[in-house]
Amino acid sequence: MHSPILSGIHHVTAIASDPQRNLDFYTQTLGLRLVKLTVNYDDPGTYHFYFGDAQGRPGTLLTFFPWRHAHRGHQGTGQVIAIALAVPEHAVGYWRDRLQRQGIGFVEEERMGATVLAFADSDGMTLELIAHAGTMPGSAWGHSEIPAEHAVRGVHSVTLSEEGYERTARLLHETMGFRLTAEQGNRFRYEIGEGGAGATVDLLCQPDAPPGTMGAGTVHHVAFRTPDDTHQNAWREQLRAEGYNVSPIMDRQYFHSIYYREPGGVLCEIATDPPGFTVDEPLEALGTALRLPAWLEPRRRVIEQIVAPLRLPHSTAGGTGQ
Ligand code: ZN
Repeated sequence: MHSPILSGIHHVTAIASDPQRNLDFYTQTLGLRLVKLTVNYDDPGTYHFYFGDAQGRPGTLLTFFPWRHAHRGHQGTGQVIAIALAVPEHAVGYWRDRLQRQGIGFVEEERMGATVLAFADSDGMTLELIAHAGTMPGSAWGHSEIPAEHAVRGVHSVTLSEEGYERTARLLHETMGFRLTAEQGNRFRYEIGEGGAGATVDLLCQPDAPPGTMGAGTVHHVAFRTPDDTHQNAWREQLRAEGYNVSPIMDRQYFHSIYYREPGGVLCEIATDPPGFTVDEPLEALGTALRLPAWLEPRRRVIEQIVAPLRLPHSTAGGTGQ
């Protein structure tokens, strides 16, 4: 294969502390759908939450490892320091009011022609809502407090903080196929494919900032999308040929993954679009029960005793939004 395809952001995974608080923040405050309730396959005594749009599409997914006793991390260089979510342009006023009513402080700025509302999640991680005029990565989940017309429609972009930006820029451009599309101060915007929401990575050049430390309230990794196993294999070979230390292909049940670290230190993943979240439960039932892979199913009773019980969102079943 000459040039394997990378079609944007697949998901972003972060570390949280209290599971219930994390679940409530993303499903209630932000109105995302819990599209899968499972455990961390490397640490099955910890939940793994997947939040997304009505269909659980790649490009709309935020995932969390909530470690109840996790120390707070510190955002800094070598990390994704902000996750931006796309909302329709007309929804900015709604979200200003909503954040205010919820007692969530936010900072408003104009970034490359779009309004951005920046605030912290329940563990202090920086989130941004970006008013986006173009195509959205996903569709509204219509079963939350948020009216469907104002709902979050997926991941817009991620911001990587870098001490020096050139080597990361070279990886994004020359290897991964992103192109530089805009600059604003120390922010360099890269887009891939059709660009826009779900296909944008911002590099923030911060030579004087301290390096980040991993912990609650920080991003663990960002995953990019590839169409299938053949493309993923080609990516693995290409990255290895260029000297990157790439993991073996891992079966994550809902996609297949490879991992590598970009030169500035951010952990990156390339994940396949298939098989997706309906591989082990129907669309209307996504996120309504703890799902385990076959190899953990024999340990279900023990796992259920270790992970604390949760109050799941009231309305996760019965329809798929608009
Ligand atoms: Zn991942």
